[in-house]
Amino acid sequence: MTSSPPRTAAPPDKLALLTKYFGFTSFRPIQEAVIDTVVSGADAFVLMPTGGGKSLCYQLPALMMEGITIVVSPLIALMKDQVDALTESGVPATLLNSSITNTESSERLSKLFRGGYKLLYLAPERLMMDGFLELVQKLPISLFAIDEAHCISEWGHDFRPEYRKLKDVRKLFPKVPVIALTATATERVQEDIVKQLGIQRGKMFKASFVRKNLYYEVRPKQETYKQLKTYLKSRKGESGIIYCSSRKNTETLEEKLQSDGFKVHAYHAGLTSEERSRRQDAFIKDNVQLMVATIAFGMGIDKPNIRFVIHHDLPKNLEGYYQETGRAGRDSLESDCLLFYSYGDKMKVEYFFDGKTAEQKALAQEQVNQMVRYAESTQCRHKLLAEYFGEVYTAEACGMCDNCTKPKEEFDATVAAQKFLSCIKRSGERFGATYIVDVLCGSDNSRIVSNGHTSLSTYGIGKEFSKRQWLELARQLLAGGYVEHVGEYNVLQLSPKSREVLYDGKKLFLKPLKKESGTVSKSAPTLGGAAVDETLFTRLRLLRKRLADEQNLPPYIIFSDATLREMSIQKPLSQSAMHKISGVGERKLQMYGKVFLDEIISYIKVSGRSGSL
Ligand code: ADP
Ligand code: MG
Repeated sequence: MTSSPPRTAAPPDKLALLTKYFGFTSFRPIQEAVIDTVVSGADAFVLMPTGGGKSLCYQLPALMMEGITIVVSPLIALMKDQVDALTESGVPATLLNSSITNTESSERLSKLFRGGYKLLYLAPERLMMDGFLELVQKLPISLFAIDEAHCISEWGHDFRPEYRKLKDVRKLFPKVPVIALTATATERVQEDIVKQLGIQRGKMFKASFVRKNLYYEVRPKQETYKQLKTYLKSRKGESGIIYCSSRKNTETLEEKLQSDGFKVHAYHAGLTSEERSRRQDAFIKDNVQLMVATIAFGMGIDKPNIRFVIHHDLPKNLEGYYQETGRAGRDSLESDCLLFYSYGDKMKVEYFFDGKTAEQKALAQEQVNQMVRYAESTQCRHKLLAEYFGEVYTAEACGMCDNCTKPKEEFDATVAAQKFLSCIKRSGERFGATYIVDVLCGSDNSRIVSNGHTSLSTYGIGKEFSKRQWLELARQLLAGGYVEHVGEYNVLQLSPKSREVLYDGKKLFLKPLKKESGTVSKSAPTLGGAAVDETLFTRLRLLRKRLADEQNLPPYIIFSDATLREMSIQKPLSQSAMHKISGVGERKLQMYGKVFLDEIISYIKVSGRSGSL
């Protein structure tokens, strides 16, 4: 049921294709310039951080140009993910690698020759197989895309000898443009890629490595497990990675977390490869929320909705730290990067220097010193990272790290917290934060009316704060363990600690709540988002999970978290309103529009909220 792009002399309108297939309305920085370049027939080298949106830089040209785009990608799992995502968006794409049987391969090839695919994903080994390039020469190839292009360089952390042979491909296809893409920040590797592939210098596109949606924080490594547990409880239902420095640590922590009721898997190189992929798959499909892993985990996954990356132990160098934390928030929603740091950890890292040569030791020492300088610094963490990668960083305060957001003073939140907690109690500990806030603010939506909650003593007693500020307060109470999330709908319930505030007269001090006019970014955190209806968001996530399981797909292939969040802000009630949501292209509207609309409509009926037509 896929429609192929129109065959016209002039290249089709890229914005129209972007909306039709991907459901996006605008390009990210540099995407458009890159697309224009390759479509004009020139080469391009693209440097963008993880989550920057590299795939679109060749997927859209593939749709605009006549013929087939060949994408070389090093990891089978990533290839499959991309082909699944394209297929779901109505883009005809397929892949060939060692996981595909011979019969299936020949079927795919003959469909390719019939013009049935716009994109073909290949493992580099396949391209180099005897006779394969000759076969490819018979196809109308429009573009070669080399993803994860750092694999071509011996200086990189992930050198793949087969990538070296891509040079020969250039010679066989002198007229076909090549686009090379990577997130590798090191200059030496970048230059190597450009040189090896013969890409002209003028066609280099570099995006900033500052990931504005990531919140960086360093915490003292004291009572670490207690801190961790409190944090994780405030993040129920969300995906995250906890990195540990050894296999043993991952297993100990996995056990502890499991016994505390968390859905978690350990992951390290000591497991069999079947076990590793089983665990990775469970994480990708949202069957487990947490991975406690060594740095062996992460390379092969493109899961966009990882909401936090926690380093339980000190990483060995800042570059690795940046790459690992970079796996959070690919979908550009706010995500946390926490590092637990103690000086003792530095000494543990140094302990393993024994047995290294003097030169290796000096390098490792310099790297760990750098890491320690980062951890102990009081400067903006984004600035520190940007400068480490040679970028000039001028922003005064990023608003997205502990050092820039450290509250000048805390405010006495005792009374506000008492109001909030008693509202939870009086409404029977059966509702989510949005509902509680609505009651406090005296909202007259029909759900509150029909529950009789307009007559609660806490109804309308919270007018001193806006809804957004109350949600922020809720978030801080959750983070401090003063209230707990329960059940799949994230109902709020009181905790033993809430008693202290509610009945024992304990004073509570919190970070100042942002003023309405303050700098709250569009992609606000999951709970405290301006108008994200948290209950609806949870319902949509559950629906997505069910649909994904039916097709054995990762949930994010159906809709991203960003798309579901927008749905729970806009609450579309018609096909046309649904189509306006970012991430809802034509095919997804056709496939899933109705089920999601039905879910939103039935929610609106019981909650008495309004939607958009
Ligand atoms: P990278 O390969 O650079 O790590 P991806 O290509 O996987 O990044 O893209 C990361 C996320 O950003 C994906 O979820 C993708 O759908 C989204 N994205 C890419 N371009 C856009 C755009 N122009 N508008 C909205 N979202 C986008
Ligand atoms: Mg990518």
